[in-house]
Amino acid sequence: MGLFTYSESMIKGFAVSDRTKRGGQYVGAWRILAPEIDYERCTGCMLCAMYCPEAAIMAGETGKPKIDLRFCKGCGVCSNECPVKAIEMVKEEG
Ligand code: SF4
Ligand code: SF4
Repeated sequence: MGLFTYSESMIKGFAVSDRTKRGGQYVGAWRILAPEIDYERCTGCMLCAMYCPEAAIMAGETGKPKIDLRFCKGCGVCSNECPVKAIEMVKEEG
C-alpha cells in the first residue's frame, strides 16, 4: 500500500472490517452535485483522497482515485483541491 492509498477497510484513518457498520456514514443522500473524475487529466496524486472529509475516495486498481458515492456528500472539496482540475461537480440524473 502506497503512502496515500486507502484500502477498502480504512475510513477516517481507522481500520474497520466493515465500514458500512463501523465508521463510515451513508451521506450520499445529502448530495446535490456529484464529483466526476476526468481520468485523462488525473495524475494520481491522491490529494483529493487526503482532503475528502468523508474518506469517500480511495485508490482504485489503476492507482488512480475511485469515489464511493455512498459516502460522498457532494461538498466539492476534492474538486476544489485537485491541482489539475480533474474533478468536476456535476448534477446527478434522477
Ligand atoms: S487530486 Fe486530482 S489529480 Fe490528484 S488524484 Fe485526485 S483527481 Fe487525480
Ligand atoms: S465531494 Fe466531498 S465528500 Fe464527495 S468525494 Fe469530494 S470531498 Fe469527498
